Amino acid sequence: MTVFNPRRDFDAEHRVSRRVVIIGGGFGGLACAMELGNAPDIDVTVVDRRNHNLFQPLLYQVATAALSPADIAEPIRKTLARFKNINMIMAEVVGIDPSSRMVSLSDGDSLSYDQLVIATGSDYNYFGHDEWREFAPGLKSIHEARQIRHRLLLAFERAERAKSEAEKQALLTSIVIGGGPTGVEMAGAISELGRFMISRDFRNLQPDNLKVILVEAGPRILAAFPEHLFA
Ligand SMILES: Cc1cc2nc3c(=O)[nH]c(=O)nc-3n(C[C@H](O)[C@H](O)[C@H](O)COP(=O)(O)OP(=O)(O)OC[C@H]3O[C@@H](n4cnc5c(N)ncnc54)[C@H](O)[C@@H]3O)c2cc1C
Repeated sequence: MTVFNPRRDFDAEHRVSRRVVIIGGGFGGLACAMELGNAPDIDVTVVDRRNHNLFQPLLYQVATAALSPADIAEPIRKTLARFKNINMIMAEVVGIDPSSRMVSLSDGDSLSYDQLVIATGSDYNYFGHDEWREFAPGLKSIHEARQIRHRLLLAFERAERAKSEAEKQALLTSIVIGGGPTGVEMAGAISELGRFMISRDFRNLQPDNLKVILVEAGPRILAAFPEHLFA
């Protein structure tokens, strides 16, 4: 297998100026851009619909109020500022025409390229049930993390004033679907947030009222980790 090396592979054919467009300023796009940083004869344009790179592994901490959004986001321009041959554009890519080597943007503009890198990440899979998205947002952006945080904190507030034990119990029950690393971290963080806040800040709630249910279709949670770690 040949491992792709941006600096070598983009530069190999001709020593003429090459325009490289990278769609996506996430982990993959930034790693590629930095490899090409200050390379002679290569002009790089990073296009992202957001102006910041997000450290997604800590999104669940924002969703559970342990971190604020600014702690896990950095402007892409700042990350790439030291590379004089890299330009950043905040825009959404809506089309690619390989025959004319053009990328079209949602605002009607277009960019030409010699080499194109598509590093647009992935999206949540609702397994054919996209209608679930409204009730159970994914956790891929600050907006979604804030949505989850808002729902959790609002549920505690409503539970404090619940008219019955059943209503209180319902408001303090969270269901996390998916026992992979994110689901397990999320379930643990909700539990920690709830227990910590409930005992400190709420008069009518007890830590034991809080219930977190983790749902996994497979035979065990954290299936990607070796089984002996659970012993
Ligand atoms: C909650 C959570 C926890 C995680 N925890 C871990 C962990 O502990 N360890 C680990 O190794 N990995 C973890 N990951 C996975 C890791 O974050 C991803 O593998 C990584 O971010 C993928 O990088 P990427 O560059 O492919 O995509 P992303 O980082 O998602 O970047 C894609 C970029 O493309 C942009 N984009 C998409 N479409 C367009 C478009 N049409 N026009 C313009 N821009 C566009 C987006 O705005 C985004 O900035 C976690 C992920 C999540 C969601």
